[in-house]
Amino acid sequence: MTTCADGSLISNIRPLQGIFVAGSGTDVGKTVCTGALLRALQQAGCAVQAVKPVQTGVLASEVASSSLSDAAVYSKALEGIRPLEHLHASAVLHCFGLPASPHLAAAKENMRLDCQNLCHDILTHWDALQASALLLEGAGGLHVPLNEDEDMLDLMAILGLPVLLVGGNYLGGLNHILLSVAALLHRGLSLVGLALVPAPDPAKGCPGVDVADMLADNARILQKKLRVLGCDAPLIEVPRLETLDQAGWEALACQFGPLAERMASNWPGAGQKKLTGHLSEEESLVQRDRRTVWHPYASATSLPRLNAVKRTYNNRMVLAGGKELVDGMSSWWAAIHGYNHPRLLDALHAQAGRMPHVMFGGLTHEPAVALAERLLAVLPEGLERVFFADSGSVAVEVALKMALQYQQSRGETQRTRFLTPRGGYHGDTIGAMSVCDPVTGMHSLFSAMLPEQLFMERPSCRFDQPFDPACLNDARQMLTAHGKEIAAVILEPIVQGAGGMWFYHPEYLRGLAQLCREADTLLIFDEIATGFGRTGKMFAAEWAGVPPDILCCGKALTGGMLTLAATVCTGRVAEGICRDNGVFMHGPTFMANALACAVACASLDLLASGDWQKQVHGLELALHEGLAPCRDMPGVADVRILGAIGVVEMLEPVNTRSLQKFFVDMGVWLRPFNRLIYIMPPYVTPKEDALRLCAAVEEALRQGAHLS
Ligand SMILES: *Cc1c(COP(=O)(O)O)cnc(C)c1O
Repeated sequence: MTTCADGSLISNIRPLQGIFVAGSGTDVGKTVCTGALLRALQQAGCAVQAVKPVQTGVLASEVASSSLSDAAVYSKALEGIRPLEHLHASAVLHCFGLPASPHLAAAKENMRLDCQNLCHDILTHWDALQASALLLEGAGGLHVPLNEDEDMLDLMAILGLPVLLVGGNYLGGLNHILLSVAALLHRGLSLVGLALVPAPDPAKGCPGVDVADMLADNARILQKKLRVLGCDAPLIEVPRLETLDQAGWEALACQFGPLAERMASNWPGAGQKKLTGHLSEEESLVQRDRRTVWHPYASATSLPRLNAVKRTYNNRMVLAGGKELVDGMSSWWAAIHGYNHPRLLDALHAQAGRMPHVMFGGLTHEPAVALAERLLAVLPEGLERVFFADSGSVAVEVALKMALQYQQSRGETQRTRFLTPRGGYHGDTIGAMSVCDPVTGMHSLFSAMLPEQLFMERPSCRFDQPFDPACLNDARQMLTAHGKEIAAVILEPIVQGAGGMWFYHPEYLRGLAQLCREADTLLIFDEIATGFGRTGKMFAAEWAGVPPDILCCGKALTGGMLTLAATVCTGRVAEGICRDNGVFMHGPTFMANALACAVACASLDLLASGDWQKQVHGLELALHEGLAPCRDMPGVADVRILGAIGVVEMLEPVNTRSLQKFFVDMGVWLRPFNRLIYIMPPYVTPKEDALRLCAAVEEALRQGAHLS
């Protein structure tokens, strides 16, 4: 079986159209409803096929004939209506003889089902068909296991199709159905209908219950609950028929008629590329965006190239048009565990249920305290106090203010400036911007309000070359000349990120820390990009073994799910600021947001398992292998790799717009800037996907997509 990871196929397949029919449990009439909907859709003129991704309890040789086979039911459902010439009524992709849960039935035959492969099989099957839609029928309920780790709901979430939920109308059925609806909505799936099928003995175990009354009450409550959830899916009450003959199927199909008509009108026909004059979902979203929204570093009038993303999972993004991209950016360093990680989602949902947010003045809560404890346990030694901020730039502002307040409280009131290397990036707010590289950091635009800081040479010694002590000369000179005015030195340890993706020698940091001590000034590390494993160490400062006085982290802190950052300082800094009843003067409204803190704790749990080290190391090797061919290509100035960061530096600025289009066409998401094409994938990226990102870069250079 080919895996989905080769990707090439997936990204070129037309978007999957259809409905996933799922049950709130087993034996709730899923197959009958699928058959009835199949009939209704075909009658609505839709070329649709019913597909069982996994069928258990039937031998492969008996799929067509066995009375236990769902395929046999689908065929019956279509009796008496004109068959589609080019399309079989149904297909079964995996068949196992044991009438048990898919994971067990597969194991019995020494097979292991998994979501990526099933998804691949479904898409391949779809691609080979001349169908306008598929009706996919699950096996059992939503949480029926496909293997030890994944269940039917995981498969449904990856496919992202709208769902027809089939539930049994009986005593207790309501509970199953509502739990299933909640599970579907939590996974971001949309409900297109709820089919309610009466059980053979609806009041079993409860003699004396007025059955008709109870069934009607179930339906009424469900309808109401759906409305409260903002879900306008119709409730379809399916009659219970003693015998399912042709007339019976016709009666059932009638119930599904309106749903079938509505769905069929949304699906362009088989083989049809696009209706002229009709905007695709992606195009119309981009158009609405262009009327109302402003994008980062972009014009509001001369419009940027945009792609609309509809869903994400693992290391993949699914565009509104259905195209799937391999992510090479981790959404700007943040999504280190990939997207929609179940552990992070669970933490988010659980905290949302308890307490989404309270003000942090005069109040505290478990997620904030736990996160502070957990952070201090993994941060470089000596850091003792955590101040939560709501974004990286704010964390940098907080760090600068801490340094200023510290110097003031010890009487060094003339220490009001910051020293920083050129080529740095620290954020876009005023204070943070003032310490960004003065050329690429927009200083000329905002010079009227930017405080003037001190700049020294970029650390010139490469990470991978022998150390040259001369690279500290400028720092030494600046600290000698201006030492008494400097409140703190601020820099990104080891990796300068957005300012040039430059990796410098750890010895530089050790030397600089020594110079700061001699000048009696503070040292601030901005680990917003480098923190949480990206460089191969938990924090980049560990490469040098020097602890800072203040450290900022953000970006990957919540695994990329919510905005949160932290500024952490030593006991000496904290005590300095607070001496003589001093207080630190900062307090964002959403400080220590409980949702973000809870997700960050879950992200630290994932990191604590230690898998990230193997993953980052594996990515480092893959990036070395995959980017090697770029070294000798024309126009390339340098290729460098550290941890899970791969950089191809060009001699000239690249055309971001045309490159971005090229990459999307290739099925990868990379966003180069200036002279830099760089890759920093989620840690969970499989090797094949890492190589695919590299291959896309190589191919772009080969074809000159960066020029134009
Ligand atoms: C991204 C970044 C920031 C700014 O963080 P935001 O969350 O975008 O405000 C600051 N410093 C570094 C090193 C960064 O990479």
